[in-house]
Amino acid sequence: VLTQEINEPKDVDLTNLRPKHTKYERANATIITLVRNSELGDISRTMESFEDKFNKKFNYPYTFINDEPFSDEFKIAVKKLTNAPTYFAVIPQSLWKKPSHIDPDLEKEGINALLEDEVAYADMESYHNMCRFYSGNFYNLPELQKFKYYWRIEPSVQFYTNIDYDVFKYMQKSEKVYGFVVNSYDSAESVKSLWPETLKFLNMEDNYKYVNPNGAFQWLLNDIQYPTKNAVAGGYSTCHFWSNFEIADMDFYRDDAYNEWFKYLDSTGKFYYERWGDAPVHSVGVGLFADKSKVHWFRDIGYYHNPFYNCPNTPSKRGCETATFTNAILNSENCMASWIDYGIDDLAAIY
Ligand code: GDP
Ligand code: MN
Repeated sequence: VLTQEINEPKDVDLTNLRPKHTKYERANATIITLVRNSELGDISRTMESFEDKFNKKFNYPYTFINDEPFSDEFKIAVKKLTNAPTYFAVIPQSLWKKPSHIDPDLEKEGINALLEDEVAYADMESYHNMCRFYSGNFYNLPELQKFKYYWRIEPSVQFYTNIDYDVFKYMQKSEKVYGFVVNSYDSAESVKSLWPETLKFLNMEDNYKYVNPNGAFQWLLNDIQYPTKNAVAGGYSTCHFWSNFEIADMDFYRDDAYNEWFKYLDSTGKFYYERWGDAPVHSVGVGLFADKSKVHWFRDIGYYHNPFYNCPNTPSKRGCETATFTNAILNSENCMASWIDYGIDDLAAIY
C-alpha cells in the first residue's frame, strides 16, 4: 500500500521553474511526435490531455514529424488545440527509408524467424523504419537542430496529473540527460543480437573509452524476474525505458559515444533482419554511455500508453489508480524494481 504522496521531485529547487504570467523564459526544448495524417483523432486526444495537464501553462512548441507531408486538415486541426508554436517536419527519405545495403535474402530470412517467434510488427517495413528513425536519426532532422531537449508524445496516450513545474528546466537544472516513466521487459526475440553486436562494437579499436564508469550495467544485464530473457537476448535483460514517453537531451545522442555506436548498429542491418526497437536501443545507449545519476524517473507524472500505466499517489491525479502497472499478468512485464535496485542510489532524496 502506498501511503506516501508522490509529488514533485525535491532534488532541485523548483521555485523559479513555475510559469509566470509575463516573460517566462522557456528552456531550449520542443514537444515531438512522429505521427501520420490518419492519426489526427488520436493525436488530438493526446494533445488535449497534454495541454490540460502541462503545456497550456508553458506553451512549449510542438514539432510534428511525418514521413509524408502533413495535410492542411491535420495542420489546421492541431493548431486549434494549442496556443504554442507548431512546426511540421517532413523526414528526408535518407533518414527514413530502408538503406540500400540491406540484403533482401537476409531480410526475408530474418522476418520469417521473427514471425515464428510472434514478434509484433515483424513484417511491417514502416515499423522497422520507425524504430530505426527514432533510434538514431530523429535528432539529425534539420528542424530539430536548434533544440536541445525534447518530450516525446504519441497518439492515444493519457496524462493524469497536473504538472506545475517546468520539466525541461528541471532536466537542465539537475543536469539530467534522460527521463522516463515506465520500465518494462521487451520481447527478447526482437533484440537477439543487440547486446552481442554492442559488445562487438565496444571491442573494436578503443571504443571502451565511450563507456561511462557510472553506467547502469547491472540493470542492463541482471534479469531478476525473467531468467529466460537474457539467455534469448544474448545477455541483455531486455529491461528498457518505454520510449513512447521520453524527456531527454538530444546532445547526449549527438555526442560521439551514442552516435558512433548507432552507426555501427545501423551497419549490421539488424534494424531489418531483427526488429530492434528504439526503446531498447535508447536504453542500452543510456545504460552504457550515461552516468546513471543523470537518468530520471518522472515518478510524479501519471501516464498511460496501452497497456501500461505510471500511476503515482498524488492529489491531482484523476482516474488513475495508484500504484497499478496494469494487472497481475502485465505486472510481470514491469521491471521498475530492477531500475530502483540498480539505477537509483537514493530514491528518498528525489521524492
Ligand atoms: P507501438 O506503440 O510500438 O505500438 O507503435 P506505434 O504504432 O504507436 O508507433 C510509434 C510512433 O510512431 C507513433 O507516434 C506513431 O504515430 C508513429 N509511427 C509509426 N509508424 C509510422 C509511419 O509509418 N509514419 C509516421 N508518420 N508515423 C509512424
Ligand atoms: Mn504507441
